[in-house]
Amino acid sequence: MLTEAQLRHPTVQALAARQETTYINPLRRELAAARSLLPVGMEDIADAEARLRRFAPLMVRLFPETAPSRGILESPLTEIPAMARWLRDQGGVFGGRLLLKRDDLLPVAGSVKARGGIYEVLKHSEDLARLAGRLQPLDSYIVLEGWREFFGQYAVEVGSTGNLGLSIGIMSAALGYEAVVHMSADAKQWKKDLLRSRGVTVLEYPGDYTAAVAQGRQRCQGDPKRYFVDDENSKSLFLGYSVAALRLKKQLQELNVPVDREHPLMVCIPCGVGGAPGGITFGLREVFGDHVHCFFAEPAEAPCMTLGMATGLHSGVSVQDIGLSGRTQADGLAVGRPSGFVGRLMEPLVDGCITLTDQALLAYMGALWQQEGIFVEPSAAAGFSMAHRLWREAPDLRPLLERGNLIVWATGGSLVPEAERANLLAQAEQA
Ligand SMILES: *Cc1c(COP(=O)(O)O)cnc(C)c1O
Repeated sequence: MLTEAQLRHPTVQALAARQETTYINPLRRELAAARSLLPVGMEDIADAEARLRRFAPLMVRLFPETAPSRGILESPLTEIPAMARWLRDQGGVFGGRLLLKRDDLLPVAGSVKARGGIYEVLKHSEDLARLAGRLQPLDSYIVLEGWREFFGQYAVEVGSTGNLGLSIGIMSAALGYEAVVHMSADAKQWKKDLLRSRGVTVLEYPGDYTAAVAQGRQRCQGDPKRYFVDDENSKSLFLGYSVAALRLKKQLQELNVPVDREHPLMVCIPCGVGGAPGGITFGLREVFGDHVHCFFAEPAEAPCMTLGMATGLHSGVSVQDIGLSGRTQADGLAVGRPSGFVGRLMEPLVDGCITLTDQALLAYMGALWQQEGIFVEPSAAAGFSMAHRLWREAPDLRPLLERGNLIVWATGGSLVPEAERANLLAQAEQA
């Protein structure tokens, strides 16, 4: 719980009043200093990337749609000039180009969760197979396709508001595991249906995401055959996400977008429990050092990372403690309590957090559709807030915005069914 002093913190007061809030992190450090505080480094990112390469031939066998990229799951980085004009018309200021990172198009799971979630299932599978003495370092991982019976002795479980469940569930079921997804009541019906169609067991709970995670964690505790993917603490998930930075470096080179003192890169990523934006931010700081500036975007009703960082309490505080509901239209962001593991790691790395109303999320989602013909889910549009919110509310950052190129990280959307899209776009017209 919060002390009197913490409750009087201006950021906490603004969050409790459901105001759209911009929080600039006073603990951000230059990379050299940040590195000495981190228990993970570039070698961990390289290790994760190498593991994904080992599994790539198997991914092509299990998911033929990944054949064009030879089993590597990656998304395009696209310039969106019409949306850039729209943002500037709305008072957004930035000197450079506006780029959209299309994680909504990631194969297999259709969201950013395809990075961390699939990585963690593959890492666990490699560990199990090696422990059983059945996988030698030089074996081609294609042999694992025939191991359904072996993996079938084990279960992989996860608590999720939706997208993490899709990624873990689809990947685990494809390898032959018993896959169990513990879902909160607010999870979308189509996500449950899709999972069940892939042979995944979906268990539903009346509470929120935190409660679903607690149920799953408890079920797996002490059972060596049941592996729980713990979104609130997982290092594997985090490292799976971080690999995005290595890939982004190449994509920026291809688009002739430099990242240096004269051309800072400003990146805004939607944040739920923190694993995805945290892992990506860690990777980006390792790759681009001090010239990348990362911001997290959260719903005003569920600003768990902003609250955790502003108070320094991280997982020791929840949005319910300041009277917020944690409920939002934004799937994946309806999280009341941040990852303590990620929150602490972010202290020297992230530049700040921006919170915005559901109405603003829907308006950005609608504008992207209008301007570019691109549909993303409401959560995935959160990053568009960066251009005018930082200009207005963080004057010290204006020199960066004046020179900067912007990346808005679109985290999901391609699996959203047609009827649901139409419904969301209709709501956006009212927003
Ligand atoms: C999960 C999710 C996020 C945020 O990831 P966290 O690891 O929970 O912070 C953002 N956008 C979408 C669409 C997601 O599903």
